[in-house]
Amino acid sequence: MPHVDVLIVGAGLSGIGAAHHLQTKSPDRTYAILEGRSDIGGTWDLFRYPGVRSDSDMHTLGYEFKPWRAEKSIADGTSIMAYLRETVAENGIDRHIHFDHLVRRAEWSGETATWTVEATVTTTGETVTWTCNFISMCSGYYSYRHGHTPEFAGRERFGGTIVHPQDWPEDLEYAGKRVVVIGSGATAVTLVPAMAAAAAHVTMLQRSPTYMSAGPDVDVIANALRAVLPERAAYAITRRKNIALHQFLYRRMRAHPERATRFLLKRVRRALGPDHDVDTHFTPTYAPWDQRLCLVPNGDLFEAVRTGSASVVTDHVDCFTDNGISLTSGDHLDADIIVTATGLDLVTLGEVDFVVDGEPVDFARTWAYKGFAYSDVPNLASTFGYVNASWTLRADLIAHYVCRLLNHMDATGTTICTPRLRPSDATMTPRPLLDHLTSGYVRRAAERFPMQGDREPWINPQDYAKDKKMFRTAPVDDGVMCFTTARRQDPPEPALVTSSTARQPDR
Ligand SMILES: Cc1cc2nc3c(=O)[nH]c(=O)nc-3n(C[C@H](O)[C@H](O)[C@H](O)COP(=O)(O)OP(=O)(O)OC[C@H]3O[C@@H](n4cnc5c(N)ncnc54)[C@H](O)[C@@H]3O)c2cc1C
Repeated sequence: MPHVDVLIVGAGLSGIGAAHHLQTKSPDRTYAILEGRSDIGGTWDLFRYPGVRSDSDMHTLGYEFKPWRAEKSIADGTSIMAYLRETVAENGIDRHIHFDHLVRRAEWSGETATWTVEATVTTTGETVTWTCNFISMCSGYYSYRHGHTPEFAGRERFGGTIVHPQDWPEDLEYAGKRVVVIGSGATAVTLVPAMAAAAAHVTMLQRSPTYMSAGPDVDVIANALRAVLPERAAYAITRRKNIALHQFLYRRMRAHPERATRFLLKRVRRALGPDHDVDTHFTPTYAPWDQRLCLVPNGDLFEAVRTGSASVVTDHVDCFTDNGISLTSGDHLDADIIVTATGLDLVTLGEVDFVVDGEPVDFARTWAYKGFAYSDVPNLASTFGYVNASWTLRADLIAHYVCRLLNHMDATGTTICTPRLRPSDATMTPRPLLDHLTSGYVRRAAERFPMQGDREPWINPQDYAKDKKMFRTAPVDDGVMCFTTARRQDPPEPALVTSSTARQPDR
């Protein structure tokens, strides 16, 4: 049975970042990455729809340790994949990745302080078992099996093609076709202008509007700095600038929602011109950042709407018909292709079944410790990034903190770290883990997610400045994270890692 000190689950942005942290900050630890798919990249490999791109700048969505060199700071999926490929190759991380290993179950033994992890090799159906001391779940936040698709009456009657952005057919021909995109989130906002360039017409059908903000896809300051400074210095300055700027804007918008609404809508009106009904189609009923603000790079969506190659309809689907969608208002949208950009299905910890000393873990009944570990679950970290800033900023902090935990255990001769409620924490009022976000995909999953409390370290502030203090400077031995040793003092000897799918032997 292969054994490693740390098993990382997932080779997306977070898993690759976690591996780099281990190599540099906890270099004596052995590790492996089990990845359920056949390639790295996670989100950026899975989503292949036209125009797929980041909506955060790559100076903060990229890693602190690897400068983003491309001219565009809002990057397409292919450029992000190239960046990730370069990262794993440059740092020898590729040698540690075991592809097509879908982790299903992890069972903890306090006797030996080990996890026994079962994975299905997706190419053969075979089950393989690994052991490790610590699991770092970098499995993202949504189901890779399917996207979220509501029931649409009459779906089977529709004579055209129905597509979900999570499962985009490589050969989908949409040139000259009438397309309806159902949804108003980041995916719809990306897809509509991208498809409008070739389609006969694209309609964005939304139940309710989303806040949108146009911005350039290049960062002129970043590119100017790169021209005069060494690459790393330029990147570090741009990264700090962008973190500070986004934090400032986010806080201002949350503190002054009316002013923020006026500001955002004024810009939309200016971008669309006088002939468009901004009140109906671009004015949400919630405050800015109650749901994620959508970036419109170079105003591409506004341009498509202004020139008539795309339009926005705010209405409800009554049913699908032979040739389109009938709306509750009585109107009908003709379509050859319907794209259900209706969102993601959120899951907890890669849909893995966790068992601790014989007891199945129900994460909905656990308290999230600093938003990355769970009460009474030992030697487990999971990465959930920011929903109001670049994901990687938080993934980076967590990966660093995991190394701090491991190094602390080394220094103190302990092998187990478990967050446990203090007696005074028993009275905590539970709050949803992502309580500041009202988006449908978050509400749908809220009751399956762990709770957060009302005091440190049981909170998930989703605030980079606060997190930085919690993860970088607060002591790891805080009286809540309990450090102990295995009940039995003869943990198994590490065996050589062998796997037919490993590219090369692990270190
Ligand atoms: C279309 C889209 C655009 C986005 N754009 C942005 C953006 O601009 N800015 C931003 O901050 N965030 C964005 N996000 C959020 C985005 O998911 C993160 O930025 C980031 O890519 C997440 O990286 P990750 O490695 O944590 O998770 P993922 O990218 O989801 O990768 C998880 C990996 O874990 C693997 N895995 C999962 N479960 C298992 C298992 N049980 N066993 C083995 N392997 C498993 C998956 O196969 C996958 O490779 C976007 C999300 C989507 C869907």
